Amino acid sequence: MSDLKPYYLGAHVSASGGVQNAPLNAQAIGANAFALFTKNQRRWEAKPLDPKNIAAFRQNCEAAGIAPEQVLPHDSYLINLGHPEAEALTKSRRAFVDELQRCAQLGLCYLNFHPGSHLREITETECLRRIAESINLALEQTEGVTAVIENTAGQGSNLGHNFAQIAEIIDQVEDKSRVGVCLDTCHLFAAGYDLRTFDSSAQVFAEFADSVGFEYLCGMHLNDSKGGLNSRLDRHHSLGQGEIGLEVFRYLMSDDHLRGIPLVLETIDETLWADEIQLLRQFAHAARSPVTA
Ligand SMILES: [Zn+2]
Ligand SMILES: [Zn+2]
Repeated sequence: MSDLKPYYLGAHVSASGGVQNAPLNAQAIGANAFALFTKNQRRWEAKPLDPKNIAAFRQNCEAAGIAPEQVLPHDSYLINLGHPEAEALTKSRRAFVDELQRCAQLGLCYLNFHPGSHLREITETECLRRIAESINLALEQTEGVTAVIENTAGQGSNLGHNFAQIAEIIDQVEDKSRVGVCLDTCHLFAAGYDLRTFDSSAQVFAEFADSVGFEYLCGMHLNDSKGGLNSRLDRHHSLGQGEIGLEVFRYLMSDDHLRGIPLVLETIDETLWADEIQLLRQFAHAARSPVTA
């Protein structure tokens, strides 16, 4: 029992002023995990990381007691690894390799990304094949960083909104040791997975175990949802204030599969992050306390 890893809890913090500020921002809210963008997420181009900032990033992580496995970097929103058009696909693939290299330079082991969209120009199957091929090409050109597929809300033509699609991508990835999954609770709910009760949450994660497998789970995004069940809306809310409610988080903090991986808030009110982390820690503590009659 004592060799159980802790729950690593944090938020997607700002890296404004330089990547080295992200671990400081995480520390300030009592986090032992965090997510960050290693470049402006709405631009294609970025300057290479400054070696001074890289050194400061590593130092600040160490001072905060945050190891690489507790950090979940997120790639740019512009990248579409399943793009139907050749030129745009090449541009996305290049940018994705750059993102993986930036993570490697920072000494990090994960890169979280949204799988891609078919833009109604190619079939789902063809798009999923392209995404897997993009991952294969990127892994060949890089070292040490795992490509972490995030489930989506299924907005527009975004793929990866059900476990079968994620499994289909992983199935076509050659190096299974460097592909993983990040599950976002808001996206799950918006895509039709009911997380409103402890038991329905347990069922959803049992389904994940069957169709994908916990060995691929590298992190989670903990968000409530403004949109309803199966709304296909990617609209996050603060924990307990949206359509999902708190029971799913009580469930997650009792599931040992979630220990040892970054669990990251992307909730909308950052002034609540410290309290939300505290609440999750309380749930984890309560789950391990013996039940009294
Ligand atoms: Zn997310
Ligand atoms: Zn989202």
